[in-house]
Amino acid sequence: MTIVDETTTPPCAFEPEVYMDELLDSPPARTDITAAEWERLTVKRATAHRQCAGCPLMVECLYRAVVQIDVSGYVACTTEHDRSVIRRRLGIEVQQQTTTAYGAARVGGGPVSHDAVMTARQAYPKDTCHQLAERLDCSTSTIKRHLRRAREQKRDEALSPPAGPCLPTVDAVLDVFDELETSKVA
Ligand code: SF4
Repeated sequence: MTIVDETTTPPCAFEPEVYMDELLDSPPARTDITAAEWERLTVKRATAHRQCAGCPLMVECLYRAVVQIDVSGYVACTTEHDRSVIRRRLGIEVQQQTTTAYGAARVGGGPVSHDAVMTARQAYPKDTCHQLAERLDCSTSTIKRHLRRAREQKRDEALSPPAGPCLPTVDAVLDVFDELETSKVA
């Protein structure tokens, strides 16, 4: 008989598909989806947010996702964009491992990574969003979302301080997290 210690099993382990949901991790603009889809997304995000906020691993999870590993998915009350904002404010960078020509491999039909989209964009600069979507087996709105995110990152980077060699403390990461809108939603 297998005994599972639920006191140390985080909520995301029970429903990984929620935390890997591309719409949760990289939300579309309000105008890109219907009112009903927006409502469903809002409820889903609020639920994941509540679970992360109450998770005993929240602080460690946030620190690792910001400072040590550039993971995909909704993690510790943050989206990928939230975590990149925290890193920029802390002046740090985390390299994402790439394993294929398009960046990190997709696992089990999971969300296409930002790196994969940007690598495909570089390789095929004349492709339309629709053609890129076909190459990566994802939706056109996903491509548009990642391209929009790249434009936003470029704009933010122009305003951010250069990366420093020291790792931030847990308190420093939490201080920046506390300044984000997402920290006030739970
Ligand atoms: S804080 Fe991290 S470990 Fe806890 S539920 Fe959220 S993603 Fe999972």
